[in-house]
Amino acid sequence: MTTRPRVLVVSTGGTLGMLQKDPGALAPSEVSENVLKYVQGLDSAVDLQAEALWNLDSSDMGPSHWTALAELVALRRESVDGFVILHGTDTMAWTASALSFALEGLDRPVVLTGAQRPIAWVRSDARPNVVNSALCAGMGIPEVCVYFGRWLFRGNRVTKTSIQSYEAFESPDCNPLFELGVEVRAIEPPRAVRGPFHVDTRFDRNVAVVTPLPGSDGEALDALVDRGVRGVVVRAFGSGNLPQAGWPAAIARATEAGVAVVLTSQSLRGRLDAPAYEGGRRAVEAGALSAGAMTMECATVKLMVGLGRGLRGAELAAFYAADLAGEGV
Ligand code: ASP
Repeated sequence: MTTRPRVLVVSTGGTLGMLQKDPGALAPSEVSENVLKYVQGLDSAVDLQAEALWNLDSSDMGPSHWTALAELVALRRESVDGFVILHGTDTMAWTASALSFALEGLDRPVVLTGAQRPIAWVRSDARPNVVNSALCAGMGIPEVCVYFGRWLFRGNRVTKTSIQSYEAFESPDCNPLFELGVEVRAIEPPRAVRGPFHVDTRFDRNVAVVTPLPGSDGEALDALVDRGVRGVVVRAFGSGNLPQAGWPAAIARATEAGVAVVLTSQSLRGRLDAPAYEGGRRAVEAGALSAGAMTMECATVKLMVGLGRGLRGAELAAFYAADLAGEGV
C-alpha cells in the first residue's frame, strides 16, 4: 500500500464556505469550518487534516492575515507534505504573491483555492477545486500555487480576470504548471527549491496604486506623496507609457522625496518596456522602477516587501529587479 501524502487544509473563508443568509447577499457561514464533509472520498488519496484560521470575505484580509498564514506554514511545515489554503477569490492573487515572497526556500506545495459558488450548492465549482488542490498539495511542488478551474498556476503570476466564469483566474505571461483535466498534464516545470527555509513577513502597508488617465498631469501622484506614502505603483499605459505633460516631473518629485515609484501596465499581457516611448523613457530617467511582467498585485506586494525590509534607493532597485519567486521580473 502506498502512503498517502499528508495535507493540511486551512480555511480562511470566501464564497466557498458561504451561504445566502439575508436575502441577496452571500455571507460567511459555518460551512467554512466543515468543508471536508463535502469532499467525501478524498481521504482515500490524501491524509487530510483541517484547521480553520478565520472565516472572512477575502476583501477583509490584508498583510496581518498574510503574516498569520506564513507563520502557520512555517509552524506546520515539517509535519505535512503540503498545504491547501481555502481563500476567497477577490484577493487570492494578493495573498499568493505575499506568501511567495514571505516563504523563502519553500520546499513543499502551498496551494490556494476557492470557488465562484458555495460548496453547499449543488452546482458548484468548489468540490473539484478542493479535491484537485489537495491532490496537487501532495505532488511535491515546492511553490506557492493557485488552483482554479482545472489549472495549477504559479501563485504570484495570477490575476482574477472573471467574475462569472468557473475559470476565474489567468496567469497572463506564465504557463500554468499543470492541467488537471481527464489526464494530469505537466506544462511548466516548477521552480527548484532555493533553501534554506526562512519566513520574512515584513510588509510596508504605506504603499498606493495610482492609475493615470489620458490627459492627467501627475497631480494624483503628488497628492499621494504629500500624504506620506513610501511607495507608489503607477499603472502606466501599454508598454509603460505616460502623459509627458506632468507625469515624468511628478515621478521625479516623488523619487527626490524618497518615495519609490514602480511602473506597471494597464494592459493584461506583455512585459513592460517603458523606454520604448518618450513618456515612459522620461519616467525611467526620473527614477521609476519597472515591474517587468509582474501582475499589478504582485508588483505592489513586492514593493511592500522591499520597503518592509528597509530597502531604499539602489538597494531597493536591485531587490526589485531580482527574480525571487518566479514573479516575472
Ligand atoms: N467575495 C468573495 C471573497 O473573496 C468572493 C469569492 O470568494 O469568490 O471572499
